[in-house]
Amino acid sequence: MMKLVCFNPKNVQHSGERRYRVGAMVDGDQIADLTPSILPMGLSASEILRCYDLATNFVEPAMEAVNSGQLPLIDIGDVKIEAPVPRPGKIICIGLNYRNHAIESGMEIPKAPIVFSKFVTCVAASEEPILLPVGSEQVDFEAELAVVIGRRAKNIDGNDAMDYVFGYTNFNDVSARDMQFADGQWQRGKSCDTFAPFGEYVATKDEIPDPHNLRIQFRLNGATMQDSTTAELIFRIPEIVEYLSRSITLEPGDIIATGTPPGVGFARKPPVFLKDGDVCEVEIEGLGVLINSVVSNV
Ligand code: MG
Repeated sequence: MMKLVCFNPKNVQHSGERRYRVGAMVDGDQIADLTPSILPMGLSASEILRCYDLATNFVEPAMEAVNSGQLPLIDIGDVKIEAPVPRPGKIICIGLNYRNHAIESGMEIPKAPIVFSKFVTCVAASEEPILLPVGSEQVDFEAELAVVIGRRAKNIDGNDAMDYVFGYTNFNDVSARDMQFADGQWQRGKSCDTFAPFGEYVATKDEIPDPHNLRIQFRLNGATMQDSTTAELIFRIPEIVEYLSRSITLEPGDIIATGTPPGVGFARKPPVFLKDGDVCEVEIEGLGVLINSVVSNV
């Protein structure tokens, strides 16, 4: 059982390839530093993907080290938290996967998962800003449970799908509605820079005994906008993994965002969109809180 975080010293200057340190959250406000005793001190983003590969057997020795009490503890306030998968190979999203969100969006209840993707440049860590893109007046929020893949998966049966899951994290499927609906497809409106904040940690799957029974909330400036449960998912994780893996090879560190419950901004009367200075919070039971402020990208 582990809550995996990536971090760096505050204000670190990266020359050349960006490097990261890895730790395990303990008590919510401290990190047991797995570097350099278990992992090298400075890992590249692709080296971190190996931590998520269940075939590398990283989790067990890491947990033993954490439980030994011998690792140095760092106050979380003393470091810069990075996205727990700094450069995932893929960010796959499932659209309209809660019945009442499909209804509020004026869309049909999907008969098969609706699949779209975000670019890797969408990644943002907890407490990093969401940048409002030039040319959009309608940037919206979507609290989502995200799955982190832990094993190469191709043509997986749903009954075996959970063997391929590493863990879970909070995810905000930030969406520029004007771009999303004007373009004829969703790519640009879903893939602006910083439009995939997730974290602050990845909980290994044994931390979350039933991912289909978790309270999921979104708060905007402290006001609750979404409050539902993952029990309402139309397509559940095994079905999603089976469906995707028929046509797309899933790899360790890939992120699958499972869809958002009702209460998003564009469906409200009057609509609510993100503006400079707003604070977004995604909170899912057992996964902590993902916090991002909103900043005009000028
Ligand atoms: Mg979504």
